[in-house]
Amino acid sequence: MKIFQKGFNYSQDGAGNRLVYHLQGCNMKCPWCANPEGMKMDGVLVADEEWLLESICPKGAIQGTQVERSICAACGDRECITKHNTKGMYLSYTEQSVEEIVQEVLDNEMMFYDGGGVTFTGGEATMQYEELKSLLIALKKHDIHIAIETNGSHPHLQELFPYIDQLIMDCKIMDAENHRKYIGVSNETVLQNITAAAVAHSCLHVRVPLIGGVNDEAEERAAFLAFFDGIKGPHVTFEVLSYHEFGKKKWKECGWDYTMDGNAYVKEETLQKFKKDIAALGAKYERT
Ligand code: SF4
Repeated sequence: MKIFQKGFNYSQDGAGNRLVYHLQGCNMKCPWCANPEGMKMDGVLVADEEWLLESICPKGAIQGTQVERSICAACGDRECITKHNTKGMYLSYTEQSVEEIVQEVLDNEMMFYDGGGVTFTGGEATMQYEELKSLLIALKKHDIHIAIETNGSHPHLQELFPYIDQLIMDCKIMDAENHRKYIGVSNETVLQNITAAAVAHSCLHVRVPLIGGVNDEAEERAAFLAFFDGIKGPHVTFEVLSYHEFGKKKWKECGWDYTMDGNAYVKEETLQKFKKDIAALGAKYERT
């Protein structure tokens, strides 16, 4: 499986101390993404200008802190990463087999003493669906607590529910046209999967990334509230995350433009009102 980042964090993506795997590839193209290096299924060459060395490229693509990506696009042997191992230029992901991941999780099992476990996120975890399913089945045999953080768009997501203890789903934009416009895909399956999870899953956490000028207007918030009112329940929690630009530097390192600007920050009063409105529905708000 292709993994672009892994490590422990506490309680952010699931309960307790968690070993978190970020799986490569995503079918959505959110311009505010904090992990852009995880977007492309075949990965991306990440260039960190702080450590970049001209000497690792025989084709002259690296000049000082700049990389001429058009030269890289036509480069077959990629000596910068195949002959050199540097922090200045590297492929976004490394690969591990399902068996290797299972063993790694089991080797770290004592770290889950507080009810923690393993989390698969992305990118979009379900882009590597078949391997992920095998992995979940294998880990469940060892009674490992599993959380999945997903954009909710996979048509067979519901088949994974029996193997997931904690399901974290993004709900990004309610308006179908705007969802397509900003993210590149329809939200139809996403909303169907969230609705199904609210009924069939015992632990669902729905997250809204609130982005200024994208989904924070009163009309859009009202659409979220109407949807949440229909899916709220004892096993469903909600959370609103407001825009940040933590991923900005990474977009540049991937050779891409970061198109978000200061207007994407959400007013504090808007954020607080939205949280209160969710609570007023009788829905459970939970901060992670
Ligand atoms: S991909 Fe090829 S052209 Fe680009 S930096 Fe690496 S070796 Fe140079």
